[in-house]
Amino acid sequence: NFSFSIALSLLCLFSIVVLTQGKPNPFSHSQPPQDLAPKLSYDPQILSQASTDYGHIVNEKPYAVLEPSNVNDIIELIKYSNSLQTPFTIAARGQGHSVDGQAMAHGGVVVNMTRLGDFRNGSGIIVCDEYVDVGGEQIWIDVLHATLERGLTPLSWTDYLYLSVGGTLSNAGISGQTFRFGPQISNVLELDVVTGKGDFVTCSPVNNSEIFYAVLGGLDQEHLISFNERNDTNAADYVEGFLLMNKPPLDLSFFPKHDQPRITSLVTQYSTIYILELVKYYDDNSQAQVDKEVENLVQGLKFVPTFQFEKDVSYEEFLNRVHAEELILRAKGLWNVPHPWLNMFIPSSRIYDFNEGVFKSIILKQNISTGIFILYPMNRNTWDNRMSAVIADEDVFYTTGILLSSRVDNVGAIQAQNQEILQFCKDNGIEIREYLTGNKTNEGWVQHFGSKWQLFEGRKSKFDPKKILSPGQGIFG
Ligand code: FAD
Repeated sequence: NFSFSIALSLLCLFSIVVLTQGKPNPFSHSQPPQDLAPKLSYDPQILSQASTDYGHIVNEKPYAVLEPSNVNDIIELIKYSNSLQTPFTIAARGQGHSVDGQAMAHGGVVVNMTRLGDFRNGSGIIVCDEYVDVGGEQIWIDVLHATLERGLTPLSWTDYLYLSVGGTLSNAGISGQTFRFGPQISNVLELDVVTGKGDFVTCSPVNNSEIFYAVLGGLDQEHLISFNERNDTNAADYVEGFLLMNKPPLDLSFFPKHDQPRITSLVTQYSTIYILELVKYYDDNSQAQVDKEVENLVQGLKFVPTFQFEKDVSYEEFLNRVHAEELILRAKGLWNVPHPWLNMFIPSSRIYDFNEGVFKSIILKQNISTGIFILYPMNRNTWDNRMSAVIADEDVFYTTGILLSSRVDNVGAIQAQNQEILQFCKDNGIEIREYLTGNKTNEGWVQHFGSKWQLFEGRKSKFDPKKILSPGQGIFG
């Protein structure tokens, strides 16, 4: 077992300049400090890159992009902004895999965090006996490789590993291991944070804890996660569910080729099929009992007989499985397309109502582009309510991801469908919370945070009083 700590360089930013539409030059009254100026880029191509993200829906041009060499550059940028009568906004950008413009700063400065990695000379990931010390700009696949070299590994992951550590910790970082080990934010021992005042603070649950908690941050499946509650050694290491719907294209690549026709006919017959994916890790010492443990786990599940499939892959192949999909989609030109995604946490007591109203009604009946539908349960007690992340208010809740890809001309229709889903939940009193969300009005954010709003707003006023950091979410106007 291996917990890990993250030294998260929270922010870095800046550089550049180029007049942005409707936004005046933020540096016009006072030029940036001399040592910072050469690190600000105004190159149209770099600005254009910082104006887009994986969503391909929002497009906000920064005035400049900072290519920092170290954390001090970020501190200096933030202090410079604070010194101006009209401060400019600053956004850290990791891998830009948000879908709603969260890493953008319209007319402000985007900090290209990945540049920090270039200057660390390979010291961005330091593996120790019981934790790993990682720069916020590092990506998870590199953390995996570095830790595995020592026979160690973090416990909690996201489905996709080419995301930055800072980017996932800004949200929560969840996947099929979350029910057992908590989200990634529950696995952090210590953080280095740069605040909106330009202070550098090392924090942990016992040291500067207020800022630590402020910056960190969603059916049969419940039977499977209950093994963990009982501390049963049979417990699965990963549980995730997904839906196959009778909508083209049907992706059956996980299943053996000769079984695909009968799975297709099952989907055609029932319109929606629910699939449970569970994973047991094993090594040479536990190989003998793993089959028995899987048998115990699936005992009592109500699945269609003869529709149980097994795959035996390496630990890395499993964790890095989405990258294989990425390569296929890139080759077909289907990776850099709009992604109007909707992710939510749903209280367990309402998951059946959600299934009937959303999956079986709104989504199935509408003839718009398809994608991936995932659904997996979480235990609330693996989350820490002192953190900024907002989750559903029940001991067990589900994360659902309605992960659609779209043609450019179809984005509006999918966004309308997302609104219909949110409205359905509201009308039926299903108290969902959105995950990875952006693009809300201030009132919408107040509702999102609910009873945590005052705490969240208070922390913002304390650590970023001029509200210059992270404008992309639009939380403070
Ligand atoms: P960016 O988009 O660059 O930034 C996101 C936010 O984090 C911004 O507000 C930015 O300012 C802030 N930020 C980035 N770096 C730092 C830093 N060093 N310090 C302070 N703030 C910072 N999420 C899950 O939880 N589970 C999944 O399984 C999962 N799978 C995904 C699969 C794909 C294909 C994609 C595209 C996304 C997935 N996500 C998943 C969502 C992903 O975790 C978030 O979108 C995450 O923010 C992306 O990280 P990034 O490095 O691209 O961040």
